[in-house]
Amino acid sequence: MAKDRGVMLLKRKRVPLRMCLGCREMKPKKELIRIVRNKENEVSVDLVGKKPGRGAYICKAEACFEKARKSKGLERALETPISEEIYELLKRQLEAGDVPQ
Ligand SMILES: [Zn+2]
Repeated sequence: MAKDRGVMLLKRKRVPLRMCLGCREMKPKKELIRIVRNKENEVSVDLVGKKPGRGAYICKAEACFEKARKSKGLERALETPISEEIYELLKRQLEAGDVPQ
């Protein structure tokens, strides 16, 4: 039926995009780091992208991290206050973890 042809056109492959909290650009998930807040309100870097909880995304760049920190975008996205201690921890994890794909 003619109807099916229309469906085919919509079936192009789409890369899932997420917004970086630093530069606010939409980027493929793979190019971003996921930061997650779990039920216990613990904030951590999710290097595998599968940790349960509320997630936020950020580029693998220190500049974006600092922006998200200053603008409090990260706190807003995760809906929890984030202490300096946690930020330092996140920063170290960001620097250390070149995320394996
Ligand atoms: Zn960014």
